[in-house]
Amino acid sequence: MRLVLLGPPGAGKGTQAAALAAELGLAHIASGDLFREAVERGTELGLQAKSHMEQGKLVPNDITIRMILERLQAADARDGFIMDGFPRNLEQAQALDEALSQKGLALDKVVCLQVSTEELVRRLGGRWVCRRCQAPYHMVNNPPRVAGKCDRCGGELYQRPDDTEETIRKRLDVYLAETAPLLNYYRGQGKLVEVNGTPGVEAVSRELLSILKRR
Ligand code: ADP
Ligand code: ADP
Ligand code: ZN
Repeated sequence: MRLVLLGPPGAGKGTQAAALAAELGLAHIASGDLFREAVERGTELGLQAKSHMEQGKLVPNDITIRMILERLQAADARDGFIMDGFPRNLEQAQALDEALSQKGLALDKVVCLQVSTEELVRRLGGRWVCRRCQAPYHMVNNPPRVAGKCDRCGGELYQRPDDTEETIRKRLDVYLAETAPLLNYYRGQGKLVEVNGTPGVEAVSRELLSILKRR
């Protein structure tokens, strides 16, 4: 299965993609996680991405597309993947379709998580992320078992520097202007499924699994 998880920042893409990847045996490919790892390691890619991320802007397409297509070559992605955070605009979506079609492949489904702006802001304001494995937590909705520590790997939790009020607003604007048009693109391909992302983590997971198993 080849899936894309769409939705505004804070919709729960990272949370749900990790759960689905584990449940369905898919590679989890998260563009934001890949960029943050590169920034942390201080690689060339990290240096190119950092200032765009800090400002809540998209990293340029050439850099982003190259990174994702490279990631898609890895052995774990051959039998299926779930992408979260990519594509974020039309050019990226077309590049992904083209790369897959060159191998005789295509996306199976694109799921968009719908959440109100008010709730997104509440989620992002309380988000804590593992520095080591990037698992997302929320201090109220989804707290770790031990304060400040990742359930999955024991890593230290931190608040992302772009989860500030001003940058959150900017990222929501970018989503509406650049990413939201992808809904029509995938609707036109007959692949779009819109899911209410407002219920709790477990309820959304169950809904997603039932939709994906039905196909
Ligand atoms: P995205 O990858 O779309 O930006 P995340 O998965 O990082 O979203 O989730 C954003 C924040 O909202 C995190 O703090 C996460 O713990 C929390 N969260 C995720 N899903 C839900 C949910 N269904 N209900 C409440 N909070 C959630
Ligand atoms: P969120 O969880 O809030 O949706 P991500 O972790 O997916 O955010 O992305 C964080 C930042 O990384 C984005 O604001 C952007 O600067 C950069 N980024 C991630 N994915 C892409 C992409 N597909 N194209 C361009 N920039 C991206
Ligand atoms: Zn962790």
